[in-house]
Amino acid sequence: MNSENFSISEKIVSASNIRQGSQAHRSHEQLIRKLLDQGKCPEEGWNEMASSLVARRHYRLIHGIGRSGDIAAIQPKAAGSSLLSKLTNSVVLDMLKLSGVQSVASCFVVPMATGMSLTLCFLTLRHKRPKWRYIIWPRIDQKSCFKAMITAGFEPVVVENILEGDELRTDLEVVDRKMQELGAENILCVHSTTSCFAPRVPDRLEKLATMCAKYDIPHVVNNAYGVQSSKCMHLIQQGARVGRIDAFVQSLDKNFMVPVGGAIIAGFNESFIQEITSASPFLDVLITLLTLGASGYRKLLSERKPGFELGTVVTPLAPRCIALDRCASREYSKHAIYCTIPRHSKAIDVENQTCKGDENCSCLLYWKF
Ligand SMILES: *Cc1c(COP(=O)(O)O)cnc(C)c1O
Repeated sequence: MNSENFSISEKIVSASNIRQGSQAHRSHEQLIRKLLDQGKCPEEGWNEMASSLVARRHYRLIHGIGRSGDIAAIQPKAAGSSLLSKLTNSVVLDMLKLSGVQSVASCFVVPMATGMSLTLCFLTLRHKRPKWRYIIWPRIDQKSCFKAMITAGFEPVVVENILEGDELRTDLEVVDRKMQELGAENILCVHSTTSCFAPRVPDRLEKLATMCAKYDIPHVVNNAYGVQSSKCMHLIQQGARVGRIDAFVQSLDKNFMVPVGGAIIAGFNESFIQEITSASPFLDVLITLLTLGASGYRKLLSERKPGFELGTVVTPLAPRCIALDRCASREYSKHAIYCTIPRHSKAIDVENQTCKGDENCSCLLYWKF
């Protein structure tokens, strides 16, 4: 609230209440200004922004899923998240069927946008035959699709569309020729697109899928906003029925009215294993660190009880001192770091008061009890 609004508010509640509010507001603003200015974790935590905010934002589901490297694995420490993840995938699969791809066998919701999810599909395919280099791509003017292939390290072979009436359609002849010229064994996949803007129309999926089956070339379909289009979904269903589709990828936000940052990777056999992390790590870690403050975080570190005898050492501020890596806890003053280390630590040469084996660190060490 700005100062004008504060004074207007005095008409509604008493001036002394408003004064209190505006003081609190000012000190809050100072914290924010300092954060913007310095970009550093505040020394003292922002207690008015409790980390319960993060907990509430995620319904107290913290551990996440897929942390062992397999997105579909049950996470023993996160029964609730695992259950929700399974349920979500199952419900989403149901919706994909309901939207027209009746024979879809498996799907995963991933915390990445469509382009990155396509990249993941390409990388997953690579493990099957490492020689594959090219991706045949009927052109669509959307940069994420292109970047998805480049990022995965493949060479897009762009096939221009042909004008039929007032529609731009897949040039099947050129696709066929490229498949033969390049050799199926060198082609990672065909990367086709359903949802797109006029004058381009959806790729001829049945024909492409048939050719992929014929030459034994994998086929990944970009179905970015196609779930809500019965035409796109029908094309995928038909393509998979008569030919080969390995995966089709769709955006969560474009199809399911949720914030940007998720996608569904679906396919006709259950062969996708992916890594996944928490859905919104940036915001969460920022809020959490602001809440704890450096001192709060340090306190947590020190609460991790080491299993050995402790003495406390004070070193001059020497951030590269290896002894600091051995600190069980640290406190910073202006000129020194108070570092709690094991009394008999091999990192410290007590007699010479130096850190052993570390030329960068000629710090003096003092016992402090
Ligand atoms: C939106 C869109 C993408 C990219 O989606 P992101 O989720 O931003 O990666 C790719 N292809 C098409 C056709 C799209 O409409």
